[in-house]
Amino acid sequence: MPEGPEIRRAADNLNRAIAGNIVCDLFFAFDHLKPYEAELVGCTVTAVTPYGKAIVTSFDNGLGVYSHNQLYGKWVVCKPNGALPTGRQLRFAVHTPRRWALLYSASEIEVLTAEAVPTHPYIVKLGPDTLDATVTPDQVAARALSQPFHRRQFATLLLDQGFLGGIGNYLRSEILYVAGIHPAQRPVDCTADQIAAFAEAALALPQQSYRHGGITNDLALAAHLKATGYRRREYRHWVFSRAGQPCHRCGAAIAKIVIGGRRCYICPGCQPR
Ligand SMILES: [Zn+2]
Repeated sequence: MPEGPEIRRAADNLNRAIAGNIVCDLFFAFDHLKPYEAELVGCTVTAVTPYGKAIVTSFDNGLGVYSHNQLYGKWVVCKPNGALPTGRQLRFAVHTPRRWALLYSASEIEVLTAEAVPTHPYIVKLGPDTLDATVTPDQVAARALSQPFHRRQFATLLLDQGFLGGIGNYLRSEILYVAGIHPAQRPVDCTADQIAAFAEAALALPQQSYRHGGITNDLALAAHLKATGYRRREYRHWVFSRAGQPCHRCGAAIAKIVIGGRRCYICPGCQPR
């Protein structure tokens, strides 16, 4: 599933493609949304905004289209009449004279008024966005140690979009590795230094991933590994999807565990329980 950084890059791409442009055609696959097609043709796309893992495409008539990709959704941007993916179901399409923005396979699509966006059940529950540059490590640390969260395992806490928005499975493994925290630990079990390291990493890693094409590894190390012939999946992350490979810091073999229902990767040397 795409995580916050990937969704934000997709939203950036959609903004460049269609924001500020007039809709010359628009398509919804779901019957209950069809009546909105005529209402939105002729409107201007005002913005495409990410909210955690959801995206809202806003129009100048005050309506917005909420979409959440879940596991299979995929946005495609192309020139008018460009080559389209086969084998995927088109669910929502915005055609402008310059570019087409096409959403495939997503099942969660809704039309909302601008006023209803902040109170949408998914958006209203979102915690602070890890890609929001105004969120500080102190705020994240205080949140981790606060009543609703401090007795929950990091493994499940980090997948809860109500704790922090935009973190998914790869960021979960990477943040905990960088902070030296075992996923079974709870904030209340951690030292002050661990909480500080966690708060720092919980913001720094998603923001680096957003700016650097999904790389969460140390950038200099990733560049060095790439230059010496390693493939992207080998240099992209510290631990995620690297089971059996040596830890870049201590050399121990990276282990794969299943916790919180999802696969998680840890270094037994750097993240003792
Ligand atoms: Zn290690």
